[in-house]
Amino acid sequence: MWFNGLLDLSVTQLILVFLGMTHVTIISVTLYLHRHSAHNSLDLHPVLKHFFRFWLWLTTAQNTKEWTAIHRKHHAKCETEEDPHSPVVLGIKKVLLEGAELYASAATPENLERYGQRTPEDWIERNLYSRYRMAGITLMALIDLALFGVHGIWIWALQMAWIPIWAAGVVNGIGHWMGYRNFECADNARNISPLGLLIGGEELHNNHHTYPNSSKLSRRWYEVDIGWGYIRLFQLFGLAKPKGYRPIAHYVPGKQEVDVETVQAIANNRFDIMRQYRKRVTEPVLRQQKSLMDDEIRPRYRKLKQLLSREVTLIKPREKETLESLLESNAVLRQIYEKSHELQALWRQRGLKPQDKLQALMEWCKEAETSGIRYLEDFAAHLRAYSLRPAA
Ligand SMILES: [Zn+2]
Ligand SMILES: [Zn+2]
Repeated sequence: MWFNGLLDLSVTQLILVFLGMTHVTIISVTLYLHRHSAHNSLDLHPVLKHFFRFWLWLTTAQNTKEWTAIHRKHHAKCETEEDPHSPVVLGIKKVLLEGAELYASAATPENLERYGQRTPEDWIERNLYSRYRMAGITLMALIDLALFGVHGIWIWALQMAWIPIWAAGVVNGIGHWMGYRNFECADNARNISPLGLLIGGEELHNNHHTYPNSSKLSRRWYEVDIGWGYIRLFQLFGLAKPKGYRPIAHYVPGKQEVDVETVQAIANNRFDIMRQYRKRVTEPVLRQQKSLMDDEIRPRYRKLKQLLSREVTLIKPREKETLESLLESNAVLRQIYEKSHELQALWRQRGLKPQDKLQALMEWCKEAETSGIRYLEDFAAHLRAYSLRPAA
């Protein structure tokens, strides 16, 4: 039938084709715009790179320089007035509903100049992609109508909405609003879901803000980053190469000597170290102390569990009061809380000489080992085993 277009597909087939096309768009955004262009964590073969650029022009009218600049600024100014799309500052509703508008208003010449370096300025960019920005999506509308007939109308409309909803709305909004935190990075980034399938792995936004230069976004064994799956697949064919990946610290079982390199290894690996502190010290000690808490504090146990490990700049004034009242009433928890901050001072305090840091770490371990808190003692032994070099 003519109104079903050249392909004359059934509804199920149309939905599958639509999901396939939007999936390619999502992968183009996460691999090309995000991991390659904005963070330079991934090399792409020119053929694959051009395919992504072409597909993004066709399906999103997204300009590489603009996207890259706005995203880099987001990382540089995260959760401040200057962040182009922070739900913490602007409110979740605005970022969810007006994601695309926020991008448009942030694309100022100053931002493009300052944050848009190393983006394509070749012939095809100047003469086609940037010059006739809307021509791509217009062409897409004609292709959709030709292939799918009247169904081309809804397919095209949803294609146009896909990135504003999922990337600009969900990742930039929900990804800084709700979800779980593997790591206490300095901004409010969250992992929306451990399964990074629908938005190409971008669901793992807390991991990404913690390690922005990593082209792999999953960090725990149960997390899936489908974008990383594609990178490995393209790598097999010589089309992609993750870069900048080198171990930042090594764990050498049995090592007990603390030296300047141990301090460096711990500082390099600080986000993971603090996660381990949470799992190995804070949470087990808190569980032990639960029965000693008074009736006023116990109902807030879950909140306290979060607050005891929360990045200090993200604790709101009201939460701070709750936390302080707990710490006042429980000396053991206060001790492990203070120890966690003393440890963080190793990398937070500016201007300390390596020797001072070494001295501080040695004292930290000694105090922990004589604290009488078993979990803290074990953790000190654990820290001693870190090194910049792998086991001989
Ligand atoms: Zn973000
Ligand atoms: Zn990023």
